[in-house]
Amino acid sequence: MIDLIEKLKETKDLTDEEFIRLLTMPTAVPEALFPNTPEASSHPSGLLPLNLEFTDDEESLFSAADEVRRQVYGTGVYVRGLIEFTSFCKNNCYYCGIRRDDRELKRYRLTKDEILKCTDEGYELGYRTFVLQGGEDPFFTDEKICDIVSAIHAAHPDCAITLSIGEKSKESYQKYFDAGAERYLLRHETANEEHYRVLHPAELSLSHRKQCLYDLKEIGYQIGAGFMVGSLKQTPEYLLEDLHFLQDLQPDMIGIGPYLTHHATPFKDCCNGSIAMTLRLISILRLMFPYALIPATTALGTIHPKGREYGLSAGANVVMPNLSPTGVRKLYSLYENKICTGELSSACRSCIERRAASSGYQLVVGRGDVAAH
Ligand code: SF4
Repeated sequence: MIDLIEKLKETKDLTDEEFIRLLTMPTAVPEALFPNTPEASSHPSGLLPLNLEFTDDEESLFSAADEVRRQVYGTGVYVRGLIEFTSFCKNNCYYCGIRRDDRELKRYRLTKDEILKCTDEGYELGYRTFVLQGGEDPFFTDEKICDIVSAIHAAHPDCAITLSIGEKSKESYQKYFDAGAERYLLRHETANEEHYRVLHPAELSLSHRKQCLYDLKEIGYQIGAGFMVGSLKQTPEYLLEDLHFLQDLQPDMIGIGPYLTHHATPFKDCCNGSIAMTLRLISILRLMFPYALIPATTALGTIHPKGREYGLSAGANVVMPNLSPTGVRKLYSLYENKICTGELSSACRSCIERRAASSGYQLVVGRGDVAAH
């Protein structure tokens, strides 16, 4: 395995067979690496220990990824202030806790003034990137989005504005860009058509989602793609297709996190994704894309109390603390037991600062643009 890791570090690529070997190598963490496949019928139950143990091969992979991350980005961790501004969504993705068909969920929308209050508070706390995230909510027309983006841009011209609001037309993406948005996050979730159909209803299409990413890139956005780790029926071969898709797309940001269940979705009886596999993929992605901005996600912090620290040590270099008003955070319930829903924004920031420092990294005040590639 050491030779494979070295090869990946040197060449940023492996053969398909070698990738599969790396994806399927044994783990010391007591959990199934592919929990939602028939092969994982013996899924261990119970809480994972606070201090996880890894095999020598896993440790070698993490340290190779950390070395590459330090070469490109040093020990800095970029922070993005996340504002979840609408929990309405017209879509019905089978895995998602804010899907259209959850009629029980109390929904909310932030007003423009509330959003601006969040960015003002974030600016005071040292954030220089704001991520506006929401479901695909038709209430927020292009005009409204552009108005909000322009207002943030005018108030904080030294900050980067990231949008994460789903699939739109190229014309809409261009309007947001012209209004001042520079980055766009749109996880592709799976690059395989068959797997996409497992996760999404018929009205959504993988080819359209991929096209959106290529459109965003053509317009000039810094783009982020990514996927859930351990979603229903995800296999090593599907993950290999994700890696190949990312090689073709060459995104600036790659967001991955473990799949987490939600009680009000058709997938409520599935198992959560694996932390070991998520960390393994963070390292593989770091070695394949040394320049990439890779977050240690909230989902990683939800599946394990030290998940984000492990993520940083495995090659991640971004964190996204929550800047949404505390009163609405619990309502943005993408999955069960989401962390950081009760804290004040200032507490979130200092918590994440401590966590980064405990792993040997420091938060950076700045826009945190992607390194040249
Ligand atoms: S995953 Fe995104 S598009 Fe799908 S239902 Fe959830 S918020 Fe909507």
